[in-house]
Amino acid sequence: MKQTIKTSRAAGYLEKMFRALNSRYFNGQIEEPVITVQSTPRSYGHVTTDKAWRRGEENRHELNIGVGTLDRPIENIVATLLHEMVHLWNIRKGVQDCSRHGAYHKKRFRDAATSHDLAISYDIRIGWSITEPANYLINTSIGFQTFRLVTSSDHSVLEK
Ligand SMILES: [Zn+2]
Repeated sequence: MKQTIKTSRAAGYLEKMFRALNSRYFNGQIEEPVITVQSTPRSYGHVTTDKAWRRGEENRHELNIGVGTLDRPIENIVATLLHEMVHLWNIRKGVQDCSRHGAYHKKRFRDAATSHDLAISYDIRIGWSITEPANYLINTSIGFQTFRLVTSSDHSVLEK
């Protein structure tokens, strides 16, 4: 049971980060997803294109952050969260930013991500998906340091 509590605590901090990033980069216009923290060996995070979760009367997208992602530097956690938020923004606008069932990131994903302080590079299998924080994002991520301390201890509990 301890694991569940710790995971929900991490998800709670991610929700706070989501709200801060949403107001900073999207005028608060991205509808809040259900944020989950699950083990995803092959990726740092994902969003569901359909609204897989029901919350109250509304259906919501799922935004998952991989447990292993929480073990990375804070600016990389922020960059992964922002990467997933760019997907939600594109879905909202009806922009298809991926092909091959979400595996391949198109140039239009790169362009949207780049305009939100992410540095994107290319891989032949996954397209324009490799995400690093750009300089401005690294500087502004320092405000999330407290989160980092909490999640890294959560992570060590999860691993036991
Ligand atoms: Zn992606």
